[in-house]
Amino acid sequence: MKMFRDFKDFLQRGNVVDLAVAVVMGAAFTAIVAALVADFINPLIAIFIPSGSLDALMFTVGNSKFTYGHFIGAVINFVAIAFVVFLIVMGINKMMKKKPANTKDCPYCGSTIPDSAVRCPNCTTLLDADKVPEELR
Ligand SMILES: [Zn+2]
Repeated sequence: MKMFRDFKDFLQRGNVVDLAVAVVMGAAFTAIVAALVADFINPLIAIFIPSGSLDALMFTVGNSKFTYGHFIGAVINFVAIAFVVFLIVMGINKMMKKKPANTKDCPYCGSTIPDSAVRCPNCTTLLDADKVPEELR
C-alpha cells in the first residue's frame, strides 16, 4: 500500500504528465519530419545525383564501404528537424506574446501601468485626482 502511495506521489511531483506528453509528441513529430525528408527533400536532392539516390552514394576502400550519402541524409534530416522546430517555436512565441491590454505609461516614472490606475503602483504618484473616490481623499 505504501508503494502505491509513493507511486502516486511520484506522479504528482513535478510535471510528469506534461513530460510524458512532450516525449510522445516529440516521437510523433520526428516521424512527420522524417517522412518529409524521405518523401520530398531526398527526391529533390536525388534529381541532381546521377545515381538517383542519396543512400547510393558511397566509396569503398578495400572491403570497407563508406556510405557518405547516408550520412549526408542524416545531416539534412537534422537540419530539417531543427528548422521546423524553430518555425514552431517562433509561431508559439508569436501566439504567446500578448499586447498588454489597456495600459498607459506613468508620466513620472515611465513604468507601464493599467489604464484605470489612479495612482502609480511603482512611484505612488497620484495620476488623476478627480477619479479618486471621495472616501479615499
Ligand atoms: Zn510612476
